[in-house]
Amino acid sequence: MNRRPLIAGNWKMHLTVAEAVRLAQAAAAASGACPDRDVMVAPAFTALAKVCEAVGDTPLQVAAQNVAWDKEGAYTGEISALMLTDLGVRLAIVGHSERRQIFGEIDAMINRRLLGALAGGLQPVLCVGETLEERESNRTFSVLERQMRQGLQGVAKEEMFRLVLAYEPVWAIGTGKTATKEQAQEVHAFLRQFLADAYEKNIADAVRILYGGSVKPENIDSLMAQPDIDGALVGGAALNAESFDRIIRFQ
Ligand code: PEP
Repeated sequence: MNRRPLIAGNWKMHLTVAEAVRLAQAAAAASGACPDRDVMVAPAFTALAKVCEAVGDTPLQVAAQNVAWDKEGAYTGEISALMLTDLGVRLAIVGHSERRQIFGEIDAMINRRLLGALAGGLQPVLCVGETLEERESNRTFSVLERQMRQGLQGVAKEEMFRLVLAYEPVWAIGTGKTATKEQAQEVHAFLRQFLADAYEKNIADAVRILYGGSVKPENIDSLMAQPDIDGALVGGAALNAESFDRIIRFQ
């Protein structure tokens, strides 16, 4: 199955608008030089408008780091899919472990966000992953299964083709510890089998599953050589134009 690779940068709560625009322009140039793969960046909400404007017709895709479930309403501090698509945003990350762990987002809330993204015309990037304690107590697969089952509740088969998944072991995010390529491949294969069982094989074959957790220029090539790893969700190394450029140009 030929899935188009996707390299995604998650800028988290970093960068001024001017810095974000400069970094986006560099990513757009690298993306233009690599037409066989997709590239996405997720700036902070404050930079989305200017980044969308700056990347214009380049192939670089712009994502939000989260999205509300309703179009509008009394939701202080939230941003809707309607507001995001209005700017030219095409994707939204949901269920990032920092949202789960620091801000208390639970599977049911993440599911609503994912459904809100789909209904509002955004492609959701659903993040799942286990903590160190869950891995060490042999609960990795049961945790992932729960996050997948509850996160994808109510998603129709035909909508599944718009989904992107990201496996992000919490113990590898921002810690410098990367899952080995074998550990990552094992989980990616498990997630793909989950999709085949819960939906059908052609959906499992089509959905892109990204790996995230201390991805850097030094490990991207070996991760991307794994059969079920279709891309990367990159935090720290996406904040540097040179390292993100090298990751985009994985071989
Ligand atoms: C992330 O933010 O999703 C992430 C994987 O971060 P890092 O690459 O810094 O570990």
